[in-house]
Amino acid sequence: MTAPTPSSLPHDGPHARVVVVGSTNADLLARVAAHPAPGETILGERLDVLPGGKGANQAVAAARLGSPTALVGAVGDDAFAEPALAGLREAGVDLSALAVRTGRTGVALVSVSADGENSIVVIPGVNATVDADAVRAHHDVIGRAAVVVLQGEIPRAGIEEAARAARGRLVVNLAPVIDVDTEVLLAADPLVVNEHEAALVAHALGAADGSGNGAAAPAAEDGSDEAVVTALLARGVPSVVMTLGARGALVGAGDLLEQVPTPRVDAVDTTGAGDAFVGALAHGLAGGDDLVTAARLAARVGAYAVRSVGAQSSYPGLGDELPEVTA
Ligand code: AMP
Repeated sequence: MTAPTPSSLPHDGPHARVVVVGSTNADLLARVAAHPAPGETILGERLDVLPGGKGANQAVAAARLGSPTALVGAVGDDAFAEPALAGLREAGVDLSALAVRTGRTGVALVSVSADGENSIVVIPGVNATVDADAVRAHHDVIGRAAVVVLQGEIPRAGIEEAARAARGRLVVNLAPVIDVDTEVLLAADPLVVNEHEAALVAHALGAADGSGNGAAAPAAEDGSDEAVVTALLARGVPSVVMTLGARGALVGAGDLLEQVPTPRVDAVDTTGAGDAFVGALAHGLAGGDDLVTAARLAARVGAYAVRSVGAQSSYPGLGDELPEVTA
């Protein structure tokens, strides 16, 4: 494993249709019989070093489906940089806006027990340097994108700067949920969140619009997915896609509220399924699909991704057949 130099990163032009601003990690994945108790040492069964990070995963998903895609982010000058970049290089993601900084590449320490339960520690490393200044240096790339995709794994100032720089459609996958300026949420078209994240954002927006938990209350009290999506729209989020695992997704925009089904598949590993969904959604939107059509494609890509182990390695390419939704 050798650290990349900036000149060794591919430059294939500034005209990416999809630009992802986000995190890049190396995932150190240990298989264990059972997770250790605090203070306990156990022997693991095997170790895999895999590319990960929500930003990188989403960029790989969009690129593999055929969208010219660029990633704005950072890796360190350490031995984890190359494994973190492997999937991006293979998918042909434009890495000219990916900085190589002095410091540690983001790392996720993942242990997976025999019963399939994950326990994860993420060390952000130089993902924490993707701040307003770092993003400002790539305003041109971001401003030219048809679709700009953001998540919650870089500093809020970087997210806010990227949202300001976007001229195309802004997809905000606020995972994990972090505090961001309300303006980011009010520009999200769509905001992509799971049920838990959606409730947190609805509550935060309720507090921000001065209604206390007034407007958040219907969502919290009713508890239905529809109520939470409706509450988010009522607070001014332009559109919402709530991902629901094996139940598919719920799309809300204006008066539209539509359940999008996902194919029935044997789920082997759901790691990175949400990122596959977001990358595919961005790909569909960049190609001119309406939100429901893009979400239908994204659900099929998400279902494809859960059928095999890993995140990026489980994503479909152009020639791969996606599972169908059956009645
Ligand atoms: P999640 O982030 O878990 O909601 O997953 C994102 C998307 O991946 C979902 O909206 C589904 O389209 C798909 N997906 C996730 N888990 C499953 C599953 N067990 N079976 C089929 N599709 C799934």
